[in-house]
Amino acid sequence: MATVAPESAMAGLDPMFQPDWFFTDEQLRLLERLKEICEETIRPLAAENDRTLTFPRKSLEALAPDGFLGLMLPKEWGGLGQNHVMYAAVTETIARHGDASCAMCYVMHIGAVEALKLRATDYTIEKYLKKVKEGLIGTLSYSDPETGSHFWYPIASGARKVDGGYEVLKKASWTTSAGFADFYVLQTTSPDYNGDYSNLSVFVVDKDEIEAKPQEWDAMGLRGNQSGTLLLDWKFVPEDQLVGPIGDGANSNDEAVDPYFLIGSSGCWNGISLGAIDIAIRHTTVKKHKDVGMRVCDYPTIQDAVGEAIMDTNASRTFVFSVASALDKVTDGAQTNPAIGDLARGNYLHWLWQIKFNAAKNVAYVVDKMLHCCGGTGFKKEPLQLERYLRDGKAGWVMGPTNEVLRQFVGKTALLGMESLDYWNVSINERALNNELKKFSADQKRELAERLIAEAGNNGSSA
Ligand SMILES: Cc1cc2nc3c(=O)[nH]c(=O)nc-3n(C[C@H](O)[C@H](O)[C@H](O)COP(=O)(O)OP(=O)(O)OC[C@H]3O[C@@H](n4cnc5c(N)ncnc54)[C@H](O)[C@@H]3O)c2cc1C
Repeated sequence: MATVAPESAMAGLDPMFQPDWFFTDEQLRLLERLKEICEETIRPLAAENDRTLTFPRKSLEALAPDGFLGLMLPKEWGGLGQNHVMYAAVTETIARHGDASCAMCYVMHIGAVEALKLRATDYTIEKYLKKVKEGLIGTLSYSDPETGSHFWYPIASGARKVDGGYEVLKKASWTTSAGFADFYVLQTTSPDYNGDYSNLSVFVVDKDEIEAKPQEWDAMGLRGNQSGTLLLDWKFVPEDQLVGPIGDGANSNDEAVDPYFLIGSSGCWNGISLGAIDIAIRHTTVKKHKDVGMRVCDYPTIQDAVGEAIMDTNASRTFVFSVASALDKVTDGAQTNPAIGDLARGNYLHWLWQIKFNAAKNVAYVVDKMLHCCGGTGFKKEPLQLERYLRDGKAGWVMGPTNEVLRQFVGKTALLGMESLDYWNVSINERALNNELKKFSADQKRELAERLIAEAGNNGSSA
């Protein structure tokens, strides 16, 4: 016989499993306050936002008054002056106690805010960063329809210099909060682009300039996240809205966009894992089988599954907090940035790839196992809402950089060195080339040589 207690009567994972030693007293107080906001405002909206594909504007705005939208901004700009470790904990808390869609919109918002902060000017501080406290929401628009999850490689976009600014084309295949965010940090090839795709520039544009199609968004999970297409159609962007110098895009990726996505999304995946564990603990400790006189949690198989999920998730969390604290050390707790051309966070990319891979791999496993623990009751939408955590968690593996790409990055870097990654496909694989040439007959070599000489005369183009 099923007996499901109301959610308010259930506790979830005991707080003794919280790695509190990573946080100061002030941070623990802030996390408690954030949990209250999640429980009072964000969580009650999560199921309906998921059902109706509603952008979590109200949930994001609920984070503004206490300063969470400017988590790592200096206090004099209305921020909380917090660090990278706290950022991981905040995304985790929103996903666990609030709503994972809201957590992912928050991640993209913080990515946009920090990309602006990296190259802050008086103009961007006044127009965007100081307004965040009032509920101004930003996002990142990077993924390109031509290059899939290789979001660092925008083929379908461009920029040209005109009087007083630039005309910018951005075609994005995915942009979280598209059509709902107030400002968009986006990347295109530079105005002086000459075939080198690593020559990228960053712009910030306002809501009125972009075209989005939220009506087309529908997805398995993170449904409130509204990650639709975006078009900025050769619109004029004033000089002041160029973020950093021309050609700063690759550096901005390594120093802001990648680190803040990888930490924040890892926090989000870990939060979903914890939320699923909470639900499984709450449910299995009250559901009874009267025939054998046991609760579901009394079966050793359930204890094993919950124990393993806690250990794997805490391994992932402490890994995230540890790498985040490495970034804190080199940036004075996210309060300083390296000079243009230098890297601080970017020197830890090979660690940041690992945390996202682990957290995304773990969440996919944990949500499955917690579903098994909760049985058919977990499979239904209500009352547990576990199936939403399962669907939301599945986004972890496929969001770029995807887990396929990340494990290859790490393996290739370890085996062949960082330079072997060749993000923009420019290095020549001479080993493969010479190996293929060995197979050519004399006539085939002559034919190839003639073709190459003709192409060389045509400025190297095969056209
Ligand atoms: C919920 C959600 C929110 C998102 N929000 C944003 C956002 O705010 N901004 C943004 O810019 N983008 C966003 N994205 C886009 C995301 O980062 C990826 O670009 C997108 O998921 C790629 O989808 P695709 O179908 O093009 O995948 P593809 O790139 O076509 O991948 C298909 C398969 O090929 C594999 N693959 C790809 N490249 C390689 C490789 N080099 N080696 C081995 N395997 C490879 C992939 O791992 C995958 O298994 C979001 C995506 C999701 C799901």
